[in-house]
Amino acid sequence: MPVTIVVGSQWGDEGKGKATDYLADQMDFVVRYQGGNNAGHTVLAGGTLLKLHLIPSGILYDHITSVIGDGVVVDPGVLIQEMEMLGGRGIDTSRLLLSGNAHLIMPYHLELEKVTQRFLGKHALGTTKRGIGPAYADKAARIGLRVQDLFDEKIFREKLDVVLKEKNLILTKVYGRLPLESEGIVQDYMAYRDRLGRHVADTSKLLHEAMRDGKRALLEGAQGTLLDLDHGTYPFVTSSNPVAGGALTGSGLGPKEVERVIGITKAYVTRVGSGPFPTEDLGEAGEHLFKVGDEYGTTTGRVRRCGWFDAVLLRFAARINGFTDLFLTKLDVLTGLSPIKVCVAYRADGEAYEDVPPHQSTFHRAEPVYEEVEGWDDDLGDVTSFSALPAAARKYVERIVELAGVPVSAVSVGPAREQSLRVE
Ligand code: GDP
Repeated sequence: MPVTIVVGSQWGDEGKGKATDYLADQMDFVVRYQGGNNAGHTVLAGGTLLKLHLIPSGILYDHITSVIGDGVVVDPGVLIQEMEMLGGRGIDTSRLLLSGNAHLIMPYHLELEKVTQRFLGKHALGTTKRGIGPAYADKAARIGLRVQDLFDEKIFREKLDVVLKEKNLILTKVYGRLPLESEGIVQDYMAYRDRLGRHVADTSKLLHEAMRDGKRALLEGAQGTLLDLDHGTYPFVTSSNPVAGGALTGSGLGPKEVERVIGITKAYVTRVGSGPFPTEDLGEAGEHLFKVGDEYGTTTGRVRRCGWFDAVLLRFAARINGFTDLFLTKLDVLTGLSPIKVCVAYRADGEAYEDVPPHQSTFHRAEPVYEEVEGWDDDLGDVTSFSALPAAARKYVERIVELAGVPVSAVSVGPAREQSLRVE
């Protein structure tokens, strides 16, 4: 079976870009299946640090066709900028494909997100303000504009006029903002069409045919399981489905094609923005993880909250996604912390929970039950095989495997491509 799905098992920023990079040699296609330009993979390839917000990290490989799938929302101006940035660094973007079914982020989405988040005050979700949530909301309300609409200017104008009438009423009457003007938007988007036209394709059909011909695809999620719209810590979630199920709807492939579902798991936990986070550590250990792990958001530059590894969350993610194996990242960041705490269960309202409590209010009150394991002081950056890791580091990994009930297939000990250790 030709398809591998890569999913973040936590709240995003697990190092999915690095994992994709590690697996890319075996792949013919890398497909982004949800989210928008709020993803932010950082990939260190051949000594170059690249920050990608929308384009799949497979773009760095000459043998790979990168696909922006049906489930993604696309800000075409941002996409063009990212293509130009890559082009300027000598990276060929000519094979990039964009689904005609992908929804467009429109100027009113950005404007509305800004004013509605401001309106929510202290209840704001801390979104990235790129218009992604409003674009998905319009998709569900069936008033979205899609990439394919760009190719029928009459339809594009009609749809825009209908939707803009309502958006302008909200902007002016509710939020006291100026209305947006349709003609300027049409001109901008027709220029985007001219630039992007040759990249637009029926990507689901193309992928299906390629899989039938024995080609292999990696479906790359953005964000992570706990940010999933249906399964995450709602409402502190993203507006799409990063979980493995979303990989199928977002790429137009069926479940029979899937061979592996790899959970990308950081050796500790981070979270950006508001919401419950049982193992958050506001003391010295959290400070260590933040500094050594360099935990700033790639897309937003926002500081990430840091805490200990949470096996309850990993078991949950393994269940929701059906992980076949795990790619454990950033083990090197734990060097110097001893003992290392691992959350094995929660306690809330006098009860023990081995699984995520079904009611969110209980989850908010959940206290971690920790077990302590021995740490290590050795720098792991130069280690070249799993067996050469310090015994305590190997034991830590083995304990994670036991607690998750899913094998670890590779451990990452640094940002570089060669700092990935296969676990036999
Ligand atoms: P993604 O969105 O899941 O790809 O995650 P990000 O790219 O936002 O964050 C991962 C960050 O950690 C990037 O800056 C990577 O270069 C870096 N990184 C990935 N794996 C490792 C690792 O094993 N060790 C260290 N120290 N850094 C890593």
